[in-house]
Amino acid sequence: RVGEMREIAHSEAITPDGVRMVIRANVDIPEEAEMSATSGADGVGLMRTEFLVVGRATMPDEEEQYKAYKKVIQAFGTRPVIIRTFDVGGDKLPVGGFPSEANPFLGWRAIRMCLDESELFKVQLRALLRAGVHGDLRIMLPLVVTVDEVRETRQLIDEAVAELAARRIPFRADVPLGVMVETPAAAIASDTLVRDVDFFSIGSNDLVQYTLAVDRGNANLAPRFTPFHPAVLRLIAQVQATGAAHGIDVCVCGEMGSQPLAVFALMGLGIRQLSVAPRAVGEVKRVIRSVRMSAAQDAAQAALAASTAREAETLLRRRLRTEL
Ligand code: PEP
Ligand code: MG
Repeated sequence: RVGEMREIAHSEAITPDGVRMVIRANVDIPEEAEMSATSGADGVGLMRTEFLVVGRATMPDEEEQYKAYKKVIQAFGTRPVIIRTFDVGGDKLPVGGFPSEANPFLGWRAIRMCLDESELFKVQLRALLRAGVHGDLRIMLPLVVTVDEVRETRQLIDEAVAELAARRIPFRADVPLGVMVETPAAAIASDTLVRDVDFFSIGSNDLVQYTLAVDRGNANLAPRFTPFHPAVLRLIAQVQATGAAHGIDVCVCGEMGSQPLAVFALMGLGIRQLSVAPRAVGEVKRVIRSVRMSAAQDAAQAALAASTAREAETLLRRRLRTEL
């Protein structure tokens, strides 16, 4: 059974009716790179960089960051590696240096903090551009709510390019830049982002949290934290449609992408790229290789028309069972 799953993990993610999917891996620390690179994943869809910050008293310098990014990029050879800039704040706090906030999830975090601390942010951007020479790197911004954040980041990238050029060290200037779609603002107004970004990646963990106003880490709320709520399904469908209309790739990189029932729904909503936990690659591909896309599309249409998460989940489960 373990051997069988490994074989599936290394097979193509293609449905019985011939629709191909891209399955990448989520990587949280560079030490996971080797294991993820042999997991059967088509690259890294989300590398979180918070490990460089969380629990530490000082920020890592450019050299330390460069080495960490290079390690992951090299492990994946020519396959794409999407590295997300610092997503600190909220539940991911470094030691010291942060104001305490009444509402950390609505607070000074992620891209907001990085843009306000631009010198600190540019250290990361320079490290990324330098690492970009070692493979197919792409940069992704967390918690975006407005295209201004993308434009300000591009300005800082231009500065980082000039600084690296002056130092005469190797770097790649034209690294693709994408955004996490993990706030209702980014999802509803995704059309306002399309001219300025190279790709979208839906962060279902935060998208569910912010859409349903349900703290993702509160155990008392766990049953209410569901990606099957009609509001969440409709937002995902909307982002997918906007991306398709403008030729922009849309990936789903939250936990949702690692759950078979949710994968079934996402396929039907038109999603063709997932980034999942490395250990879930086999299970996700098994679903894709068993499910006709036409059946997923029918099921997703029915789920979109459901009134409640429970209703959507029940009908998806019933239909998935007939496919597996
Ligand atoms: C998400 O929000 O879905 C996501 C992938 O990012 P994180 O879990 O790191 O917030
Ligand atoms: Mg998130």
